[in-house]
Order: sequence, then C-alpha cells, then structure tokens
Amino acid sequence: MKLPLAAGTPGAVLEIRGPRSYVSAFFSRLPAIRVEWLAILASLFFSLSCNYLFFAAALANRDWSSPSSWLFGAGLFVSITALQAIGLLVLLNRWTSKPLLTVLFLVTAAATYYMNKYTVFFNTEMVRNILRTDVKEASELFSFNFCVHMLVFGILPSVLVWKLRLRTTPLRRAIPIRLLYIVGAIVVAAGSTMLIFQDFSSLMRNQKEVRFLITPSNYLFSLSRVVAADTAQANTPRIKISDDAKLAAGWGGRTKPMLFVLVVGETTRAANWGLNGYEHQTTPQLSKLDVVNFPHATSCGTNTEVSVPCMFSIYGRHDYDEAKIRGHESLLHIIDKVGINTVWRDNQSGCKGVCDGLEEQMLGASKDPKLCDGERCLDEIMLENMDGVIQKAKNGNLFVVMHQLGNHGPAYYRRYPAAMRTFTPTCDTSDLSKCTREQITNSYDNGVLYTDHFLAKTIAFLKTQSDSYDTAMLYLSDHGESLGERGIYLHGLPYSIAPKEQTEVPMVMWMSSGFASSFGVNKDCMQRRAGNAVSQDNLFHSILGMLQIESKYYDKALDMTAGCRI
Ligand SMILES: [Zn+2]
Repeated sequence: MKLPLAAGTPGAVLEIRGPRSYVSAFFSRLPAIRVEWLAILASLFFSLSCNYLFFAAALANRDWSSPSSWLFGAGLFVSITALQAIGLLVLLNRWTSKPLLTVLFLVTAAATYYMNKYTVFFNTEMVRNILRTDVKEASELFSFNFCVHMLVFGILPSVLVWKLRLRTTPLRRAIPIRLLYIVGAIVVAAGSTMLIFQDFSSLMRNQKEVRFLITPSNYLFSLSRVVAADTAQANTPRIKISDDAKLAAGWGGRTKPMLFVLVVGETTRAANWGLNGYEHQTTPQLSKLDVVNFPHATSCGTNTEVSVPCMFSIYGRHDYDEAKIRGHESLLHIIDKVGINTVWRDNQSGCKGVCDGLEEQMLGASKDPKLCDGERCLDEIMLENMDGVIQKAKNGNLFVVMHQLGNHGPAYYRRYPAAMRTFTPTCDTSDLSKCTREQITNSYDNGVLYTDHFLAKTIAFLKTQSDSYDTAMLYLSDHGESLGERGIYLHGLPYSIAPKEQTEVPMVMWMSSGFASSFGVNKDCMQRRAGNAVSQDNLFHSILGMLQIESKYYDKALDMTAGCRI
C-alpha cells in the first residue's frame, strides 16, 4: 500500500509493507539456487527431521565413551544423506523439482507421523496394507496433532521450495555439472560406508529391518516393489490347485447338507481373550457354550494383507512366499471346486484375493440403522439375511466366510455398541496419545466383548439351522495388536521382530453334535488336544481334513483334527 507522504511533495511516497511483502522481499534477495544444492538440502532435511527412529534403532546400546560409536553415527548420517541425495539428483530438474519435492515432503510427513506414533516399518507388506486401506480407515487416523505435524514437516518446507528461485543452466553445461555432483555423492556415500563398513554390515545382518525406517527411501522402495509385483500378477492368472480335489467317500452316506461358518477375526489378540484366562472376562457368552478354545494359536503375519491370503494358502508361514501365495488359488477355490457353495461376507476391506472369481458380499456400507452409523457397520451385519444366502445356495452345502471389522484400531471405541461399554474408563478418541493405557485397554476389551457376542450369536444362528444342516463354526483372528507394551501400538511390525502381542491370536471351534457325528470328529479329543500349539498354517489342511475333501495338497501333519477323527 502506498500513501502520499505530504501535500506539496509530489512523487514522494512512503511504502507501508504487510508481512507478505517482507517474506517476498526476503526470498527475492536470496540468490537463485542450483537444483543440485536443492537436492542436497532436501536430503539433509530428510536425514535430520525424518530419521529419528532409524538412528535411534541403529545406534541403540552403543558405548558413547568410545570414539568408534561417534564415527559410526557420523558415517551413517553422511552415507544415508549422500545416498538419498543421489536419488534426488537423478530425479530433480528445473521442471520436476518443486512438484516432486512437494509430494515427497507431504507423504514423508504423513509417514513419519505414524512411524513415530506407532513404530511403523515401511516394508512392502506395510505399504501394501496402506494402499488397500479404505477412506473410512484412513479418516479414523486424522487428529489435531496430525495436522500440526503436516503443517510443520510437510506444508512449510513445500512453501519454502516454491518460494525459491532455481538457477537455470543451458542443457549442454547442465548435464556434465549434474554428472559431477552425482559422482561426488557416490564417492561420499561409498567413502563413508567404507569407513564404518564393519559396524554397518553387522547392523544390516542383525537388525536388517531397520532399513525400513530410513525415510523416505523405505516407502519409495517398498512402493516400487508392490507396483512391480502387482503389475506382474495382474497379467498372470492364478495357478490352479483345485483340479484334482474331490469329496471323499464319506460324503456318500450323508443325510443332511453341511453349513460351515468360518469367522476371520480382526486384530483380536490372544492375551485379551477371556477363554485364555485373561483378567477381564471378555468372553462371557462363549464361556457358557460348548466350544473348543485353542489358547496357543499364532498368526501368519502381523497385518491383514499378509495373514488373510496366507491362512487360506498351501504355503503358510512355514513356507512363506508372498508372490506364490498371491499367484495360486486358495482353500476356497478347492471348496468351491468340489461343489460346496462358498460365500465371502465382508465387513472390512475385502477378501484380499482369497475369493477371486467366487461370491463376495461387501456389507460394510449397509444402511441398516440398528447396526450401521452411515460410515461403518457392527459385525452383526454379516448375520443379516443369512436366509437369503441359504436360499441362494438352494439349501445345499454351504461354506460361509465372515470377515470381521473386529477390533480394528485405533478407534476401538467405535467397535462396540454403547450397551457393551462394560470396562471403563474408555478411550473415546482415535488419538491414542490422549488416553491412558488403562483407557485404551478398556476400549479394546469392550471390542473383544463384542466379538464374543457376535460369535455367540453366530453359534445361536447355526443351532437354529441344525435340524436341516450339519453345522459348525471356526473362528480365528488374523493377527494381534500392541496396546502400548514397550511403547508400541497397533500392529504391522515385520514378523521377525514382532512382539507376541501381534502374533498370538484367539482360535475357537464349535460344532453341532450332528456335524461331529456325521464328519466323525471327536469333540472330547479335540478338547484334550486344544492346548497344543497351532497356527494359521493349520487352517488349510484342517478344513480339508475335517470336511473330507481329498486333495494332493492336503498334509495330514498340519491337520489339527487328524488325530481326533474316526
Ligand atoms: Zn487385520
């Protein structure tokens, strides 16, 4: 804004500047910056502001009175900064610098927020899990603190970059200059790594998961692997494993069709399972029913994207190979092939390829006012209209999978109806940092109570069908959850370093007496052996064995019912 200084002095003006013009003036006085220096500065920013967890993990338990520790820390810092600078030096130019750095700053800020808050490792499994996260799940993670973090570490550096003037050089000079910088960065990276090579190689040998804490390389690397694997898989049909499968002779003399419900739970951990002796009675309804509880069950993975495909596969954790698991048919394809109707009923994020080509009913967006709030539905939605499912199967054999929302965090308080708010005080926000561990655990336990209610109701429904069907239910959770033990929350840590809270899961079996006698399963024997260690690897073979389905992929050693069948 310009005002006349005084009457009679034409042309003289006093400039009154707003704060914006000072900022513009500040930036206009800065010399134009070379893109190469912008790359180096951005890499320094990432090393300094986004890699606390990596350095903390890499430098833990070192003797700081020894100069070698300081050398290792410094070498690591220089080498990581130089390596990330090499990547940026390849990608950035006068056109890409500003948009690309903006995307990197924003995504990295979001990533570091959750890394710091929940100790997230951005390996391929975690990135795949995030890419499959729906908008509803993501919206539950937003909070005021998240917005502040995004402002400081994402938006401000982006604004700064857009304010800078980039120095332009003719292409014939720019290329050799850029090559020189890249070679320089390679020399620095190689030199600093050589200097600390012994310590560095032992770090990568003993704690190789820490590389998934180097940000933003971690998610960029994992993202490129996921995209490459998914593209390759999209162009190849699943390898068949169902061709030779058939019903065993036992099916000939059966008088009733079978109705089997497999409940795939979500995020319920063994430690908080009432039937396992937990201090809170979180399974009051199941404890009154004639169920077989398996107190020592473990999961295949620590997130849904790993565990769900894995438990239905022939590979399992003992022979884990993600590409092979996703590239082959699942247990459901075998069940479908032998003529048993299969339906996947889902109140979460889908069947993860397990039911490719088979019937999948997504029920999470239902409008039932009793069970749904417009965003999510309670798991009982999967018991609605079961009559319709039965009729569609023309009253024939039916295998139903119900995929729960279960204890999906961090909004535990939204996973149970108000009537089930039994353990108090609760944590009624998805920002867990605002609650005590007691509140978080209480909300979580109320969610477990609701799963107990859902399973008991499923069994009650199956009992109503037992005149017409041989009925049974098997429940197992996909993975567990950390509730603040050693400062860790949620789930998804790399399996090799995951705490037992994330890998020990509840598993429960119920069968009608009609099912037990028709399929020759001795309930007492199952009860006696239930204390043995079992895992999700047992699911594939136990279902085939119990349902008397013959397949060359069946492995009796992994069938937990094998010793209890007549
Ligand atoms: Zn899950």
